[in-house]
Amino acid sequence: MRHVIALDVGGTGMKAALAAASGAVTPLLHQARRPTGRERGPDAVVEGILDFAAELRAHGEQHFGEPAAAVGVAVPGIVDEERGIAAYSANLGWRDVPLRQLLTERLGGIPVALGHDVRTGGLAEGRIGAGKGADRFLFVPLGTGIAGAIGIDGRVEAGAHGFAGEIGHIVVRPGGPACPCGQRGCLERFASAAAVSEAWAAACGDPEADAADCAKAVASGDPNAVRVWQEAVDALADGLVTALTLLDPRTLIIGGGLAEAGETLFTPLRDAVRRRVTFQKLPEIVPAALGDTSGCLGAGLLAWDLLDHINRTEVTP
Ligand SMILES: [Zn+2]
Repeated sequence: MRHVIALDVGGTGMKAALAAASGAVTPLLHQARRPTGRERGPDAVVEGILDFAAELRAHGEQHFGEPAAAVGVAVPGIVDEERGIAAYSANLGWRDVPLRQLLTERLGGIPVALGHDVRTGGLAEGRIGAGKGADRFLFVPLGTGIAGAIGIDGRVEAGAHGFAGEIGHIVVRPGGPACPCGQRGCLERFASAAAVSEAWAAACGDPEADAADCAKAVASGDPNAVRVWQEAVDALADGLVTALTLLDPRTLIIGGGLAEAGETLFTPLRDAVRRRVTFQKLPEIVPAALGDTSGCLGAGLLAWDLLDHINRTEVTP
């Protein structure tokens, strides 16, 4: 069976799948996970990725009658998708790794697509997840940090330098707390799961308390928690309104750890956004549907898109 290798490289772990194509959905034939081994340094991480991909290729050949036709890989940090270079990752410690070339060489010359992790996850959410069929969407995962993927007509905009969608570094509270990016008062400092955890730990006096605990306390009506939560929601709404004023998305997909709070987040968030807009059209604000598989599913889509592109450009009418 014709299939591709989909690989999602995170900070600590890698998720992989062999994915078959069938219309809009990408059924996964085989799934595997393993650690990146980042404590052994960036060269070992790259070696680990190449080994993992080669094993997946062998698995496909053995179980599905043919080796994978292409590979899609999602990686964190700064990614030059055009040139297939993993440009920078603080987490994995690498700089300018020519990952596409290395994988092509290791896997016998098959096509390789490289994508940014959040944009790749956004591609999957937009095409087969919560934004299914939306021609214009914005995907915003609220995790350790906040990033974004701008979906336009079936693809995700990377920007001129690979930085498009960095909504977490929109300044929502000028002069506010310093952000590792060098600015002050970034959205990420108020509305990421990490920021809410920090604020709630300080407010309730339990250093172990996190954002999920805060959401539970909100649901049970704790006024202290409601105050902390509303500050995050207000900051998030300020950032999102800036984004929707610029982009006019049809669907706004919110994912990541904080979105797991469900209506505890979505009800006040929809209200806060509605209160702020004047002339702007309200997008549909929905929770992400694919959870932590979005990066892997997106990597599979990148690989199939690359094969489509090769078919279209190589076959003469
Ligand atoms: Zn920042």
